[in-house]
Amino acid sequence: MIADRISLLQRQLALRCQRAGRLPQDITLVAVSKGRSVQDIEAALSAGIQHVGENRVQEASIKHGALRKVCQDKGCSWHLIGHLQTNKVNDAVRIFDLIHSVDSLKLAEHIDKVAAHIGKTQEILLQVNVSGEQSKFGLRPEDALSVVEHIRDLKNVSLRGFMTIAPLSDDPENARPFFSRLRVLRDTINSRLNTHNSIQHLSMGMTDDFEIAVEEGATIVRIGRAIFEG
Ligand SMILES: *Cc1c(COP(=O)(O)O)cnc(C)c1O
Repeated sequence: MIADRISLLQRQLALRCQRAGRLPQDITLVAVSKGRSVQDIEAALSAGIQHVGENRVQEASIKHGALRKVCQDKGCSWHLIGHLQTNKVNDAVRIFDLIHSVDSLKLAEHIDKVAAHIGKTQEILLQVNVSGEQSKFGLRPEDALSVVEHIRDLKNVSLRGFMTIAPLSDDPENARPFFSRLRVLRDTINSRLNTHNSIQHLSMGMTDDFEIAVEEGATIVRIGRAIFEG
């Protein structure tokens, strides 16, 4: 059952937090519902999930519509975790509370324009390709600081942090250096920015590697299979 898997997951998260000297309330659990039915998402929401992650704008748009009433009652947040194409930005800004997958200044500027048009401040994360894999989207770590500096001038975009995806591996321990690299990148950028409101979030960790991500400072974990499969 979805509810049982969620409570197991919450116990695992709490235990890992305790061991890492962190507080469970400092970590947002995003239930990744790509490919899952509206009924499954409703079951997750009933079991206490408040954050829903989708990787396609069109699929999210349909589900967002179908769950409008439920979400009004429960107050759910919608997260875009998949690659965002320019021609989908209009819909994305309308639907999502947090866009994790911003991977260029150009995309951020486009989001800013659309958000200004509808009078919204769109919260975003910058996706960083810390592993350097060709197959992955995301900024090169060495480009991140300059992109951050430009994004901070945009009026209708609020940069909240960074997102990354570790390479596929049989051993979750292999993800650790990539997660720690993202944390160090965030801390380095914050120390360069000379500002009071520092960039906080690290969206990292999925079903196979969330425990390592928590140890390395994740503030948002994105989990699909551990919630919806079993
Ligand atoms: C699918 C997906 C997840 C969730 O992965 P699971 O292994 O099912 O937990 C997290 N992040 C992104 C970007 C995804 O595409």
